Amino acid sequence: MILVLCETDPATGEVDEVSLETLALARALSTEGGGVAVRAVVVGPVADTDAVAATLGGHGATEVRHATGDGVASFGGAAWATALDAVRQETGSVAVLAGGTPRGNEVVAHLAARLAVPMAANVVSFEGLSPLTVRRQVAGGVALEEMRLSNRPALLTVAGHAWQAEETGAGPATWVESTVDVPAEELVARVVRTAERAADESGSLTSAPVVVGAGRGAGGPDGFGPVTELAELLGGAVGVTRVVTSLGWRPHHEQVGQTGSRISPDLYVACGISGAIQHWAGCASSRAILAVNTDPEAPMMTRATYAVVGDMHEVVPAIVEEIRKRG
Ligand SMILES: Cc1cc2nc3c(=O)[nH]c(=O)nc-3n(C[C@H](O)[C@H](O)[C@H](O)COP(=O)(O)OP(=O)(O)OC[C@H]3O[C@@H](n4cnc5c(N)ncnc54)[C@H](O)[C@@H]3O)c2cc1C
Repeated sequence: MILVLCETDPATGEVDEVSLETLALARALSTEGGGVAVRAVVVGPVADTDAVAATLGGHGATEVRHATGDGVASFGGAAWATALDAVRQETGSVAVLAGGTPRGNEVVAHLAARLAVPMAANVVSFEGLSPLTVRRQVAGGVALEEMRLSNRPALLTVAGHAWQAEETGAGPATWVESTVDVPAEELVARVVRTAERAADESGSLTSAPVVVGAGRGAGGPDGFGPVTELAELLGGAVGVTRVVTSLGWRPHHEQVGQTGSRISPDLYVACGISGAIQHWAGCASSRAILAVNTDPEAPMMTRATYAVVGDMHEVVPAIVEEIRKRG
């Protein structure tokens, strides 16, 4: 049995994309393991249980355990780990997976500490089952590490965009309510209030399917006109380097990197960005990178999926014009 901790968006009630991507890995493990069942667990309040059962069923979960109770009504890493562990024991799961989100990583880390088994965080690929071997991002995504998980249960979290969420066409999962008792000593930290980010803040940067980034090569605050235009045309967000925010050219919430936001868009267009290790740490999980730089030897150019050697003040407006021409 494979158990997947699935998160829902508190604002919309919808299942997070990374949970659906994690279900895709769970299905791959299941297939490799001869078809072991995949179950999902959802902790805390759920706005529309039918919708969540339909979504998770459609992505391969045969059953959803809904863990509820006073102790898990709001997020707390230790309390949610208790809920996850209770369901793990009830279902006899040999592997427990979660999205590599702040919550997913925290909850699974608690579980790993309790069970004294290793945890592979931010897994990006599955290499084999005997023994269970995965690759995972380490050092903020700058390096990959191969990890073999011989203990049971195997615990891992999945880096965003590492798998493609795919519908199987199956019907809704069976919905099973489970009440969880959380001991008082595990309620040491819990979320008591959440505040909406302003629409233009880094929440949109981290979830944008396309990020158009610019660095010192933009030349100044005025150099961002075509960059923002391209981001708008592609339905994306603007991301910048620390040099740009330090110089006050753009606001801090747009910074990508070790001390900024970690992004994993389908496409990162990196213009006039050298690709220093601290910036790379924030964008290494992008599915594809298009770099535009006058220096073909810049690290961003040598690591990018596609590289254009040229002046961003010519290349970016030319891309914008071409997209506008094509309507
Ligand atoms: C503790 C610490 C934490 C840090 N955290 C971060 C972080 O979170 N995020 C981050 O980004 N940085 C971070 N940095 C800074 C990082 O080390 C680099 O200094 C920074 O990323 C460089 O920014 P840049 O690429 O814009 O500038 P530069 O390194 O100056 O590169 C500019 C690039 O633009 C190219 N260029 C110039 N003109 C043009 C043009 N007209 N057209 C096209 N290309 C052009 C140049 O060839 C060059 O490659 C951190 C540093 C430290 C020490």
